[in-house]
Amino acid sequence: MTDKNNKLCQPCAVCGESQPQMFRIWFDDYIKLYRCKVCGFVSQFPGPGNYTIVTEYNDMYSLDFLKTGQEFMYPKRRRVLQDIVDRITKYQATGKILDIGCGDGHFLYLSSKKGFNCYGVEESKKLSSYASTKSGAKIIQGAYNKSMFPENFFDIISLIQVLEHIPTPIDALETVKYHLRPKGIMIIEVPSINAPNFLAYRFTRMNKLVKPPRGGVIYSHFGYYSPESLCILTRKCGFKKEELVTGRWQYKYSGFLKIIGQLLDPVFNSAKIGGILYIGRNEV
Ligand SMILES: [Zn+2]
Repeated sequence: MTDKNNKLCQPCAVCGESQPQMFRIWFDDYIKLYRCKVCGFVSQFPGPGNYTIVTEYNDMYSLDFLKTGQEFMYPKRRRVLQDIVDRITKYQATGKILDIGCGDGHFLYLSSKKGFNCYGVEESKKLSSYASTKSGAKIIQGAYNKSMFPENFFDIISLIQVLEHIPTPIDALETVKYHLRPKGIMIIEVPSINAPNFLAYRFTRMNKLVKPPRGGVIYSHFGYYSPESLCILTRKCGFKKEELVTGRWQYKYSGFLKIIGQLLDPVFNSAKIGGILYIGRNEV
């Protein structure tokens, strides 16, 4: 599809909207982001004249964290990942779990302690071999695809900080649906376009609020979800929402900030502000 300037114009990756006038520029600096007026999904692409920036993940990561004696790349993520494992067991306490984009295997390591039969897929060669050794899970190195596992094979499939990197999320979730048994559980954790720094940017239009190194707008993030656009996507792909929480700051911090998090999390959650954790069920 091309626009009036004969430039490439892809439809919205979530709702399929393709009219250029239905997208407005959301961020315009070192990369350009567009917001779909129909579903609210913000992405590097669609939008008239803009191409997706594809990142090669295979050798992007190093194991430098081992030099400092760390067990995993982001040790502070442990409480957040443990929270996800604990929430999963409310819906499914046993069985086979697949973590797509499993990185260093931290999440699978915690899942195996709960007795799950663990599998992972990871593009990075270094991380996938580390994950295999460290978590004891069965890890396949490569880009996640349908031929990797049989149909209805898993009880649980997770995409933790992964979906925002994928330019074709519908294809990815259709593959998840294929590998997941009927009524199986899918978990998605993504950064939110309703994060506090993004909200501050929306009101002030000051680019520095969301530019690296402070984070926010990141080259390798193809899309920026809101609770609404994530629900549109998952519903479209045949999943029924069981739970959606935002914020979860009490798991990100310790000490005094944890207490602040415990007090403020219900407020942020009711306002749908902060990173999104979605748990849904494969509806057949
Ligand atoms: Zn859309």
